[in-house]
Amino acid sequence: MNLQKHEDLVNKNLEYVWHPFTQMGVYSKHDPIIIEKGKGSYLYDTKGNKYLDGYASLWVNVHGHNDKKLNKAIHKQLDNIAHSTLLGSSNIPSIELAEQLVRITPESLKKVFYSDTGSAAVEIAIKMAYQYWKNLDPVKYAKKNKFITLHNGYHGDTIGSVSVGGIDAFHKIFNDLIFENIQVDCPSFYHSDYESEEEMVESILTHIDTILQERADEIVGFVMEPLIQGATGLFVHPAGFLKGVEKLCRKHNILLIVDEVAVGFGRTGQMFACYHEDVKPDIMCLGKTITGGYLPLAATLTSQKIYDAFLSNSHAEKTFFHGHTYTGNQIVCAVALENIRLFEKRKLLKQIQQTSAILSKKLRKLSTHPNVGDVRGRGLMYAVELVESKETGEPLNIPTVERIIHECKKRGLMIRNLENIITFVPILSMSKKEVKKMADIFTEVLLEELGQYEF
Ligand SMILES: *Cc1c(COP(=O)(O)O)cnc(C)c1O
Repeated sequence: MNLQKHEDLVNKNLEYVWHPFTQMGVYSKHDPIIIEKGKGSYLYDTKGNKYLDGYASLWVNVHGHNDKKLNKAIHKQLDNIAHSTLLGSSNIPSIELAEQLVRITPESLKKVFYSDTGSAAVEIAIKMAYQYWKNLDPVKYAKKNKFITLHNGYHGDTIGSVSVGGIDAFHKIFNDLIFENIQVDCPSFYHSDYESEEEMVESILTHIDTILQERADEIVGFVMEPLIQGATGLFVHPAGFLKGVEKLCRKHNILLIVDEVAVGFGRTGQMFACYHEDVKPDIMCLGKTITGGYLPLAATLTSQKIYDAFLSNSHAEKTFFHGHTYTGNQIVCAVALENIRLFEKRKLLKQIQQTSAILSKKLRKLSTHPNVGDVRGRGLMYAVELVESKETGEPLNIPTVERIIHECKKRGLMIRNLENIITFVPILSMSKKEVKKMADIFTEVLLEELGQYEF
């Protein structure tokens, strides 16, 4: 693209576009990157620069950009129809996709309710879970109106999904608007004062058990990101926590709602995070990677038990009055179907386990560096937490973190930070070579910015 056209876009970008999660007062002072195209693991901007997509275009991309097969699935669907409503009629791709989603998710899940963003999938899960109890017995379960949630949880940005979230920096301002929940500690060992992971897991589970013993009659369900709390900075739960939560939900008869919007579809090295601990949730939320990173689609899957509680012979009774205009859109469902087909055909899960081993080894090597507080992750979801000093754990100052991110971009690697935490959430199909390159660029920049160090 010629420079004039690029400059023109830069000006119009500032004049017309309000960017998400962005302080525009700061953004406007920097030269923005404007993406023009993508191919495989790379993004190309309007100045002709090429970047390795180390954050999978916000954790969504599965097979790489501009995948011929995914493109074709969209074109093929377009030749039939782009959209007709799922209200009062059905459509072919949404039926076929629902069948596939039920097949690949844990066996407890039998029904698929579509929406278009992760936030909506969570919003639906919350409303469904709440109504489930009211449908069963409005008198007996009259008091049920709260969820147990995890501190530092992230479930999206609508008021309902913010209500079950727990990130103060994003959520505090809306305190007067959100509904009350019961928040428990997030099992992040690095950020805790516990002596061992076992002790931490035991202690938090005991606390949850106590709450449930006293207040189960007020509680609808437990909402959590299983295994890794993503948006907070990739807080990894130790083994046994997820299973422990499931057992407590069963013991006290409350619903288990897992938000796999970020961790689903192979991200953690298993198809779904629940599979790491053989967990069978009542409700599961999916989004992000579900269309291979092509189009907005989300889904809320439920058990037969929940679905059955909404059945009636009258429209006015027990019905779930929720739906979005584009629920079950044909094009998004068609590309999601092809995403699943290719995921299996290309044996992506096996490949992720191999590339994960490389990423893990390379990043974990950095943990002795004086400014690296912690290295953690699973699958292709890793974080390096940078600190001023290992002893105090004080976060590394943000200008330095931003310089590191900026320097990585200059060398052709697009990664993001969550405060002082550098995150690596690459395209799932990235080759071993590309994953190595990603870790190498970061290491090189880290050593240049924070001082040389012999590992
Ligand atoms: C991204 C995310 C969401 C929100 O999804 P949107 O599509 O951005 O609304 C919800 N839950 C988790 C765990 C996420 O990572």
